[in-house]
Amino acid sequence: MTIKNKKIKVLFLSVEVAPFAKVGGLGDVAGALPPALLKLGADIRICLPLYNFINQRKYGLKKINSFQSLIANKKIITNIYETKLPNSEVVVYFLENSYLKSRQIYNSPLEKTIDHDRFAIFSKLALEALTPLEFFPEVIHFNDWHLGLLPLLIKNSADKRIKKIKTILTIHNLASQGICSAKVLDLIGINKFPAKRIKVGNINFLAEGISGANKITTVSPTYAEEILTAEQGFGLEGVLLSRKKDLSGILNGIDTDFFNPAMDKFIFKNYDAKKLENKAENRKLLVKKLGWENNNLPLAGVVTRFVWQKGLDLFNEEFFKLPCRFVFLGAGDPQLEKQLQQLVKKNKDRFKVLIKFDEKLAHQIYASSDLFLIPSRFEPCGLTQLVAMRYGAVPIVRRTGGLKDTVDAKVGFSFNQMTSQAFYQAAEKALSIFHNQPELWRAKQLAGMERDFSWWNSARKYLKLYQNL
Ligand code: ADP
Repeated sequence: MTIKNKKIKVLFLSVEVAPFAKVGGLGDVAGALPPALLKLGADIRICLPLYNFINQRKYGLKKINSFQSLIANKKIITNIYETKLPNSEVVVYFLENSYLKSRQIYNSPLEKTIDHDRFAIFSKLALEALTPLEFFPEVIHFNDWHLGLLPLLIKNSADKRIKKIKTILTIHNLASQGICSAKVLDLIGINKFPAKRIKVGNINFLAEGISGANKITTVSPTYAEEILTAEQGFGLEGVLLSRKKDLSGILNGIDTDFFNPAMDKFIFKNYDAKKLENKAENRKLLVKKLGWENNNLPLAGVVTRFVWQKGLDLFNEEFFKLPCRFVFLGAGDPQLEKQLQQLVKKNKDRFKVLIKFDEKLAHQIYASSDLFLIPSRFEPCGLTQLVAMRYGAVPIVRRTGGLKDTVDAKVGFSFNQMTSQAFYQAAEKALSIFHNQPELWRAKQLAGMERDFSWWNSARKYLKLYQNL
């Protein structure tokens, strides 16, 4: 897969990259797609900010270079660190300076302006780092609003080697757009900017990315269509429609080595499709760990960020009637956390909520769950249904975005209306099959476990897109 026998050079930019820094699906994608592309023959390298919490020793980071740039017209030195993505040959660069330092990837909404500044500065520095690195990619693949100013920065660059770089933006979530005061442009030295794109003093990072990128992708074909509508376009449907011919949907995969019940070190007992009885052992041990008595009730798992998008508000006391136990793992909006905690308090024998980010526990829940619930309002792709299926947990999803593209009747259940009632009915139907038609249930489990969720298909599509540029 080379152009004129030359490897295509790609820089992959994301502010989350698993396992170094992850909050949700963006981190998973950034940690798994580049290795697949490398294996297909691309010279792909990753760059992200060096956050305070990244364990430099654990990941073997080495300082390899530094360079000077202008931020807010002041000189600043940025250090470049390098390592490889664990279990892969993909080179990863980390940029470090006082602006990029942060205790978290995303700070609280009250500090949002600082996030915008940080990510705008990172975008500028990622381009400037190319000179000391002597790595001039043909394509920069950048992700989400955080890097939305990149095309603008490329256009404004005085360096010919940078100016000719082509760009691809992947949108993982249209709901987060990065709207902030246009003053951020002063920070990164952009002094010419069309006034009509400034609305009440603000600019929109994602809109800039959409207008300026050569190609735009989103993480499922259905979501690529949905975002062109007023209901799901979050105000960007106009600019997206104007780029329609350059917009496509490429479904995410998952890291099938990291999410593999046969090898997973986090779970209690390994299993595969031929040894499904070991899955029940996982449930037994998780139930014990959660402080419940063992019984034969099936377990329904939920692992998610607690945000409005994920539809957790559809759970209500009605669900107490279902012959099932529920475990929720997640963190996010304090209001939603509280709401769920209040519901769970009313039925402690059947409901459990754990408010934290915990990779190991997440894997244990995937391995132990019989059902996996995803009642999202919208879902660009969704990875948890893919992981759930790989672990033989049957998903119940709302038919939207990537959930619609990946969960059919052979492997799971779905519902259309964004109501508690529709969700409840789907869960009731699933549980009736679980309790009364074990063979049909097993067939769904096995069909899900046998599906190919690896990155290969998607990575080939991305590679083609790079090459077409
Ligand atoms: P999103 O990107 O909207 O958060 P996805 O379904 O695409 O949703 O990806 C979520 C990823 O984050 C999955 O790998 C899931 O297991 C993980 N995840 C979400 N919440 C937690 C948590 N509290 N603890 C551990 N992993 C989590």
